Amino acid sequence: MKKKTQLDRLTGLPFLNSVYPRIQEELCIRKEIGYIFFDLVDFNELQEKYGIEVCNKLIRNLGKTMAQQRGKLYREDDLVAVGSQSPTRFILFLFSPPRRKLRFATNDLKLITSRILQKMQNIIREKGTRLGISDQIYFHSGFAVVIPDSSLEVDKVIYEAHKEATLRAHLEKVMVNLISNISHELRTPLTCIKGYAETLLEGAMSDEELCRKFLKIINDEAHRLERLINDLLDLSMIDARQVQMRCKESDLVKVLNEIVSVIHPYARKSNITIKAELPGEIPLINADEDRLRQVLINLIDNAIKYSHSGGVVTVRMTTDRKEVAISVIDEGFGIPETEKDRIFERFYRVDQGISEKSGGRGLGLAIAKYIVEAHGGSISVESCLGKGSTFMITMPLDELWNKDEEY
Ligand code: ADP
Repeated sequence: MKKKTQLDRLTGLPFLNSVYPRIQEELCIRKEIGYIFFDLVDFNELQEKYGIEVCNKLIRNLGKTMAQQRGKLYREDDLVAVGSQSPTRFILFLFSPPRRKLRFATNDLKLITSRILQKMQNIIREKGTRLGISDQIYFHSGFAVVIPDSSLEVDKVIYEAHKEATLRAHLEKVMVNLISNISHELRTPLTCIKGYAETLLEGAMSDEELCRKFLKIINDEAHRLERLINDLLDLSMIDARQVQMRCKESDLVKVLNEIVSVIHPYARKSNITIKAELPGEIPLINADEDRLRQVLINLIDNAIKYSHSGGVVTVRMTTDRKEVAISVIDEGFGIPETEKDRIFERFYRVDQGISEKSGGRGLGLAIAKYIVEAHGGSISVESCLGKGSTFMITMPLDELWNKDEEY
């Protein structure tokens, strides 16, 4: 006997698991099926804040909006369902490609997704205001094309389609964010260079002192731009797994002593004292010295940048012959507990203002993490807001002896 479709009381739409038989049938006769989902984000928080009644009204309206698109944004024969476990998820199965095409085109699926999303958002805005909801309400949405596979159970097919749709949506978001971050980062120094160059051309050049001052700013910004482009190139090489570690026997104590003496004058300018607590010697290790130097300079530079005038930055190295640990300790601003894990993400900056003023681009730690991990090590941070931070790199000594592969 055919299983009866069970309808969700709130939206009047069928539950996903009760439409499996229909999907199974369609999978047997179709070359492709389109899968689109819409998921209301943070519904639990909304419920806590505004109560079940209000939120149920929202869901009911969303279900109605979905159903009303039948014959407009999708065909009469297509199927809409609500998640069996997550009632805030709406799923649309398209059984034939739009515009009489033979295959589902990405652009068509994208268009349908964004049109429905727009309708949902309009409803949320209208209804939400009437119901007294002041929060911004967001959706996750995505799409995938399902190719029937007779060896898979229908629930597995749907699960895989959902995974693919989520991943695609995530990648798209990452790309959009990345491009907007990069554009922003490039535009800031360029605007500055353009502004000062224009002022010079408009007449400021005749004042020698002003001219020198503006040229210095232009020069600094051009360097900043160059550093940014180098970091972006490093990251794209990392993504393409084209970073070659050029390892050789290295004396890390010597490397750290060199860095500290180079950085001393810069620290003094910011009225920061640098203390080096290094062992007399440690075994030579097989490492990419230039890249480790880049990481350590970044950590010490950060410790100075994010410290108050008069502070102390300590660079400490310890080893127990199995492991070498390098800590960069500051008494500066510190990092809020909630942000600690995020600072290793690309372009992530805790305080945009402070970081940007000091030339920060939020890329250094992402690169540092990669380089340290490529040496078989790890990087971590301990921090107390307002009291300071300790960045610690540990690298197992054994690992360092075999590192000349490509990463
Ligand atoms: P940036 O170039 O912005 O410094 P990083 O990737 O090196 O980029 O650091 C990411 C963010 O982590 C910084 O913008 C800053 O908010 C935070 N951060 C890094 N090091 C420290 C530190 N020693 N003290 C406080 N905050 C820090």
